[in-house]
Amino acid sequence: MQLRRLEDLDLKNKKVLVRLDLNVPIKNGKITDDTRIKAALPTIRYIAEHAKAFALCSHLGRPKGAPDPQYSLEPVGVRLAELLHKEVVFVEDYVSEPLEQVTNQLDANQFILLENLRFYPGETANDRNFAEHLMNGFDLYVNDGFGAVHRAHASVCAAAELVSPDCRAAGFLIEKEVEALSPLLKNPKGPFTVIMGGAKVSDKIAVIYSLLNSCNNLLIGGAMAYTFLKYRGVEVGSSKVELDKLDLVDSIYRNAEQRKVRIEIPLDHICATEFSEHAAPLLVPEQTIPAAYMGLDIGPRTSELYERIIKSSGTVLWNGPMGVFEWDQFAKGSEAVAKAMAECQGTTIVGGGDSVAAVNKVGSADKMTHISTGGGASLELLEGKILPGLRVLYQ
Ligand code: AMP
Repeated sequence: MQLRRLEDLDLKNKKVLVRLDLNVPIKNGKITDDTRIKAALPTIRYIAEHAKAFALCSHLGRPKGAPDPQYSLEPVGVRLAELLHKEVVFVEDYVSEPLEQVTNQLDANQFILLENLRFYPGETANDRNFAEHLMNGFDLYVNDGFGAVHRAHASVCAAAELVSPDCRAAGFLIEKEVEALSPLLKNPKGPFTVIMGGAKVSDKIAVIYSLLNSCNNLLIGGAMAYTFLKYRGVEVGSSKVELDKLDLVDSIYRNAEQRKVRIEIPLDHICATEFSEHAAPLLVPEQTIPAAYMGLDIGPRTSELYERIIKSSGTVLWNGPMGVFEWDQFAKGSEAVAKAMAECQGTTIVGGGDSVAAVNKVGSADKMTHISTGGGASLELLEGKILPGLRVLYQ
């Protein structure tokens, strides 16, 4: 299956609706990180150069199907206008007023930005009627919002299906994400090391099962490591443990054994007596954690082992921090993984969310082969699912 590419669309004299992921953090009306806006620019610029007119649309946050000023895309429009050197026409109501009228009056130096799609309940309901309002007056549909392709929402699915398959395509960002992530499921260059961390085993279980088919090493960190240790009969003090997930860990070990995948769990820990930003860190130099302590990061021996495995890998995928990296005293494990990946000669992929923040903290983002812009979407793609927003863009 091949994605229909933006460059294969005939944009000349056409009007294009472009679905993006402009879901940026906004505090007091100010954008605090415009990474997602910048990531969308190559596709927008290409369309601006070749098409007659275009409108951009996105969700922002999780408003409850009605207008909510704190989730307005207006500040995003201002930033886009600056970056594109164009004038933004911001359209708040595109349901009672046909978009076609606005599009027909557009000057060459203007573009449309639609207000937050999730201000309308039809968006998350994948409602065809709402999708018709979105596509009103447009000839072509382009999706470049990778962060939302796992959602069967109106702007992602129903809108695309309103035009014939040869009038829809994936933008450059989606193309890049799929090109980077898909090979990990088939034939990645070995040895293929997967590093999984973060809060819960349950969030990552499906992706771990899926990757056991193609990986050689599975390195576990973060809070979920304590459920693995508990399963192995190791005392973990007051660390976070999901007791109801021990059977899932059992099936991971059995699958790994069959497929000859090496699983590594922490050998030592950085602990504290409380889960607090001001907690004093204590090195516990062995696997067993004393009763009064909880594990909040992997220890230096574990970091060394993981670094060694990472550096000698042909492909590395990292998803989820090794500890509570938001607090400096528990960030060293995640920093060690980020640094080792930066030094690895193989393909290095960071799978979204908090691990991206950890990579940025160390300043090694530019040394990675690929940093995914969509946490949930990248995990579901790696689970081997056909994502609804990609299904409508396949040839
Ligand atoms: P996730 O979204 O599943 O990748 O989880 C990320 C979150 O897991 C971060 O906010 C971390 O602070 C948290 N986390 C990582 N390690 C631990 C730990 N040992 N105990 C508690 N929380 C953790």
